[in-house]
Amino acid sequence: MIIVMSPNSTPENLESVKQKIERSGLSYHQSVGENRTIIGVIGDKKKIGALEMNCFDGVEKTVRITEKYKLVSREFKADNTVIDVRGVKIGGESLVVMAGPCSVESREQLREAAEAVKSAGAQFLRGGAFKPRTSPYDFQGLGEEGLQLLREVGDEFDLRVVTEIVDLNDVDLVSKYADVLQVGARNMQNFRLLLAVGRCQKPVLLKRGLSATISEWLNAAEYVMSAGNDNVIFCERGIRTYETYTRNTLDLSAVVAIKELSHLPIIVDPSHGTGRWQMVQPMARAAVAAGADGLIIEVHPHPEVALSDGDQSLKPKNFASLMEELKGIASVMGRK
Ligand code: PEP
Ligand code: MN
Repeated sequence: MIIVMSPNSTPENLESVKQKIERSGLSYHQSVGENRTIIGVIGDKKKIGALEMNCFDGVEKTVRITEKYKLVSREFKADNTVIDVRGVKIGGESLVVMAGPCSVESREQLREAAEAVKSAGAQFLRGGAFKPRTSPYDFQGLGEEGLQLLREVGDEFDLRVVTEIVDLNDVDLVSKYADVLQVGARNMQNFRLLLAVGRCQKPVLLKRGLSATISEWLNAAEYVMSAGNDNVIFCERGIRTYETYTRNTLDLSAVVAIKELSHLPIIVDPSHGTGRWQMVQPMARAAVAAGADGLIIEVHPHPEVALSDGDQSLKPKNFASLMEELKGIASVMGRK
């Protein structure tokens, strides 16, 4: 249930609403908007069903939500959420571009990538230090050394840092170095990991699961928010279909669906979404045209020797030309 407080309700009105919720054995999440405060009631369905709140002073209306996800929903918060990552805003007027190699391989590789993506206009450096590889014999990442390199190189080039977390026991470790914690496709329904990143305050980049429905994905974000972290960014990275020509099928309609159903920002990953570098540029353009808040793109200074995902990594010059092209599309879409 969502309780919308009227613009002229008093702090005492709000307090008695909260007390009633707590007395009923439920908890709440408060969202303070420009004109209105909204309380999302969470907990046992039967208890919520029995809750009568319209009679309280200061309550404008109550909305019963039929979907299981609540805090992430547009009904709960009509305005878009803008997430501020040390001055870089995600979900606002400007597009956000995160770029860098699939895996952090060495200082030289990361510096070369960082220099290229920064000069082309990206705001974030991406790179995996813990890699969730399909085969145990493939490169698994540099671990903490990779995180240290990301931080060091990110700071050198004034780039924010996003990297994947694969283990719920690593929240403190990864948070020490990263600005945004990425939950990868393979972990989208690792509920204990979702709760663990939900208990920390670092923004979370939540990739869509390999075959997750929109509803499952929204519920995954609900896990993070229900644990207290409001800073969730969705990332469409393609889903598994019968098609094998591409690595995944990039579902750009997900951008539209998420914008309709949720107030949270969404970015698109055309690299994993297609698996082919030749398709990255056109699909990145399409993503921005569909209304995405940004992109995450794999860029490697030498894709032919990449330890992972070389086939889908852009060379610096192609990334730079993509960034140029995006300026035109962004302005058509009313963005910077
Ligand atoms: C990645 O970003 O390198 C990655 C492994 O992505 P995904 O979880 O989308 O496969
Ligand atoms: Mn990758």
